[in-house]
Amino acid sequence: HQLIQDLENTIQNIPDFPKPGIQFKDITPIFLNPKLYEQVIADLANFSRGKIDAVCGIESRGYLFGIAIAVALDVPFILIRKQGKLPPPFVSQKYDLEYGSAEIEMRTGQLQKGQRILIHDDLLATGGTTEAAANLVQKQGGIVSQFSFLIGLKDLEGENRLKKFNAEVHQILT
Ligand code: 5GP
Repeated sequence: HQLIQDLENTIQNIPDFPKPGIQFKDITPIFLNPKLYEQVIADLANFSRGKIDAVCGIESRGYLFGIAIAVALDVPFILIRKQGKLPPPFVSQKYDLEYGSAEIEMRTGQLQKGQRILIHDDLLATGGTTEAAANLVQKQGGIVSQFSFLIGLKDLEGENRLKKFNAEVHQILT
């Protein structure tokens, strides 16, 4: 439909960034168009309305939409950060990258046990980051209820990796 069309016309494909052979999806032109941004938030908020108790957004592009989803639905927003940014106390989750590993962190005491959580990020590729975020949520006693993304790169099978969480997945563009 129209939103998909508009996003396809707005998001830019940058060849060979950040490495040769990779095509980077640049979402920043969305912010030049406040009406389009509003429609994206409306779409993402509709997906989650009545189904979640809090939103967890993944640093940093997950914040750009995640916090607006949370405000639209009148639920808390919790930041999932890259290692080394949060003051203590926090919980960490390690995950594997193509080369080496990384860690994400969440402040303790912000997520309440039993809360139904939406995990949001701009883009789903291998699913490694999102899977780690979901593990972090479960570690804290949260229920991983939904995942949402602006873009899903189908061929990378990120969706398959998220299946074990039995949560709803929404991707505006695939
Ligand atoms: P994954 O862990 O699923 O392989 O990678 C997803 C993460 O990498 C997300 O946090 C996303 O923001 C970032 N990412 C990977 N490729 C792209 C890209 O082409 N465009 C954007 N905007 N983010 C990307």
